[in-house]
Amino acid sequence: MIIPPRDTGISGWQAILPEKPEFPVLQEQITADWVIVGAGWAGLAAARRLLYYHPKDRIVILDACAIASSPAGRNSGFMVDLPHDLSSGEYGGAGLAQDRITIAQNRAAIVFAREAIEEFSLPKNTMLDIGKINAAASPEGIKHNRDFAEHLDQLNEPYENYSAEDMRRITGSDYYQSGLFNPGCTLVQPAQYIQGLAKALQAQCAIYQNSPVLDYRQESGKTWRIQTPKGTVSAGKVILAVNGQLQRFGFYSGHLMHVFTYAAMTETFDTARLEGEATWGLNAAHPMGTSVRRYADRIIIRNRFTYDARLEVSEARLNHTAKRIRKHFEARFPTLHDTRFEYLWAGRLCLAKNGAQIIEELWPSLYAACCQNGLGTTRGTFAGMALIDGLMNANMPYLATISKTKPNRLPPEPLASLGANTLLNYRHWRAGKE
Ligand SMILES: Cc1cc2nc3c(=O)[nH]c(=O)nc-3n(C[C@H](O)[C@H](O)[C@H](O)COP(=O)(O)OP(=O)(O)OC[C@H]3O[C@@H](n4cnc5c(N)ncnc54)[C@H](O)[C@@H]3O)c2cc1C
Repeated sequence: MIIPPRDTGISGWQAILPEKPEFPVLQEQITADWVIVGAGWAGLAAARRLLYYHPKDRIVILDACAIASSPAGRNSGFMVDLPHDLSSGEYGGAGLAQDRITIAQNRAAIVFAREAIEEFSLPKNTMLDIGKINAAASPEGIKHNRDFAEHLDQLNEPYENYSAEDMRRITGSDYYQSGLFNPGCTLVQPAQYIQGLAKALQAQCAIYQNSPVLDYRQESGKTWRIQTPKGTVSAGKVILAVNGQLQRFGFYSGHLMHVFTYAAMTETFDTARLEGEATWGLNAAHPMGTSVRRYADRIIIRNRFTYDARLEVSEARLNHTAKRIRKHFEARFPTLHDTRFEYLWAGRLCLAKNGAQIIEELWPSLYAACCQNGLGTTRGTFAGMALIDGLMNANMPYLATISKTKPNRLPPEPLASLGANTLLNYRHWRAGKE
């Protein structure tokens, strides 16, 4: 049996949505041309692309969780266009040629999301084209920004340097010494995007939530039979868009790094208590540091990475990490010292040691769009769209740029966990105030 994913804590992004559209649970036996497992960034992108090529095909999407409650709706919503390699501990550095390819792919994904928002008339604040700032709070951070700026110069990519005063004017916080502004990043309300896209696609395909796939097998060499707790789907083709859960479907075990990160969203606060602009997004200058967003009258703060090969983390771990997040929050926003965290959550990332993605046919008529390397808003969207464009032999220039490299093998457990957590702790220590 495939163990369903378990998410710890409640995503604030999903909790604050004014509307929660109903999605049914699969409770019958149905047939389809395609089954997409996973209604996240990759799965929904694949569905929209499929509908473009084959509007009459019967498409079924199954998700184990409530729509937008999984990592799809619990991330920080930075759709980053520039290289952003979490596994390497620094931004960029894969080489100029590869970085240019990555940027073009990420930008194709951002255009995809923007067009979907327009096509389906999602609320304007679903995506804010306001760029991001790599914020530096220490000499280490300033050095990271300087190195990254040099890299961007070589790539001929635009950026702006911000002073401490600029940072204070934007964020209302004295914490930061400088910043590097990247205009091409766009900020998304992740749960609003995922929920809105799923709701819009519902007009053309059947979407089931709280319907985890527990078993799947190919019958008579042609049809796949997908089993959920209360129903089954028989389909000709299956797309696994489940990110790191792919190993529970029997693929790439021992190759995928299951990393968790942790976030908090404050209760609403009186905006007079924090000067600065109403919306902005900061990534730490050091990739292991703290990212922060202001979303009108709330702050969302994300901190810390842990490696958990069991693919889930406990409430105790989340509560323990919350204390650390609180410290980072109060250091940045002393005027909000008594503002509570209303929501607290953890979420899964899936990384490959070599940064490879899995966009491929795993088995005849079984496909995958997985392993987004911690940047699933863009990389997941790209994986979903590129998988389908490839299957349809579309004339898309980016198809020729998809790497055939596979995620490389990790050391056996417990060595992989020990090694990864030691490295993460070291990098957290290096990130210091960042
Ligand atoms: C706190 C946090 C902050 C983050 N910030 C950012 C950010 O700012 N920018 C960014 O790009 N990325 C960020 N990420 C990472 C991002 O959320 C992921 O990379 C992204 O969600 C991956 O997209 P995906 O579609 O591949 O997978 P997911 O979004 O995880 O979607 C996969 C879906 O598959 C479903 N599923 C799994 N197993 C089964 C099963 N057995 N049956 C049915 N359904 C199943 C899951 O429920 C899930 O909905 C962050 C993550 C976290 C946790």
